[in-house]
Amino acid sequence: MNRWIQRPLGFLLFLKLYSNQWKSYSQLRQLQLKKIVRLIRYVKKNVPFYQQIFEKEPTFLENFHSLTEIKKFPIITKSILNKNYENFISRRIDPHSCAKLNSSGSTGEPTTMLYDPIHQIFNFAFDYRYKHAIGVKFRYNQAIIEDSSYFPKINSITKHILYSRTFYLSVFQDPSLLVQQLQRLNPAIIAGPPSIMEAIARIILENRIRKITPRKIICSNEVLDYKARELIEEAFHTKIFETYGLTEIPHVAWECNFHTGFHINVDNVLLEIVKNGKDCAPHEIGRIIITSFNNKVIPLIRYDTGDLGCLTDEKCPCGRNFPLIEKIYGRTNDLLHLPNGKITHPWILINALKTLSFVKQLQIIQEKEDLMVIKIVENHAANSFNETLIINTCKKTLGDEINFRIKKVSRIDRGKDRKFHVVISKLHQKYP
Ligand SMILES: [Zn+2]
Repeated sequence: MNRWIQRPLGFLLFLKLYSNQWKSYSQLRQLQLKKIVRLIRYVKKNVPFYQQIFEKEPTFLENFHSLTEIKKFPIITKSILNKNYENFISRRIDPHSCAKLNSSGSTGEPTTMLYDPIHQIFNFAFDYRYKHAIGVKFRYNQAIIEDSSYFPKINSITKHILYSRTFYLSVFQDPSLLVQQLQRLNPAIIAGPPSIMEAIARIILENRIRKITPRKIICSNEVLDYKARELIEEAFHTKIFETYGLTEIPHVAWECNFHTGFHINVDNVLLEIVKNGKDCAPHEIGRIIITSFNNKVIPLIRYDTGDLGCLTDEKCPCGRNFPLIEKIYGRTNDLLHLPNGKITHPWILINALKTLSFVKQLQIIQEKEDLMVIKIVENHAANSFNETLIINTCKKTLGDEINFRIKKVSRIDRGKDRKFHVVISKLHQKYP
């Protein structure tokens, strides 16, 4: 089944899924329970990795009456998935009939994710629902800036008919070239990772470019710090909408027009936030663990995303009953471990350094608990680079007992996973 059929079917499915957003909390919990029981029946019959679990606990499914039962499943990390990859593939679906996408991961270990045709239809439907919620109209043209290996492989006729309003631009291009392309296209929607959007915004502001006037900016894939958010919104005169998803599990959560957090697509995933094996209370930071309902080729139950976040129990004024992730803090590998034993996320330092006008881009490399290297790309327009001020800002934010080495660089490269990482930790410490 190709995109010719998947996209219209995705639209029909969107019409069906549309009403889920307005269902009551208990109706949504019931819906999730139904989907999980269906998923567990499916993996028991078809997926060797999970069949091993059922051999040990044969009555497992019969006792499955509440969502908390899911905790009996082990948490699957990326390395468990990689080590047992063949055993995660369903025997019911021919992998050759599936779309493939490589998720290379920050450690560089590649995983090929497979999406069966029905899952692709779901992906289109969730995309339609999200875009509809934030007010994207079908007639809008959009520029998507992303890893060029993710571009859809489509022939020119399909491109002409289905993608006539979508332009794919490579994230690996020089930002000034991207600005030129955006000036030519002037798309109503621009979607891209925050690091590249920030670089584009800076060029637009420095050169007072007025020809790029999008209605919406969508950011995903990397954590957006508040300084970058300010800069991007100033350059484009519009609010940013953030979305959250993984190559392994797309369409997890998204911001609505009220920007109160990320609404979780509870009809696509079951999302847990856990610390030391227990559910976190609202506002408590923990690991984001996701069960995907709709990927039947490589079903993932309790997949460890490697990201940290926290939930909120507040209700969104938009009236949707999809619960909210309050904040996503990025990868567990991005945390800084301090000499006093405390663990902190890096945003406090990043935000402090970005208030210095001569800092254009930065990267923190934690070499040891008491040694951090700060790479800085200078903003030449500010013309006031001051190493002592950087060190003082770092010490004031994280403490005097850490040594900071400042390295002025002309550019900061993307990681092995082709994403920009603001922190590289060489400590390999685990988050609970
Ligand atoms: Zn909302």
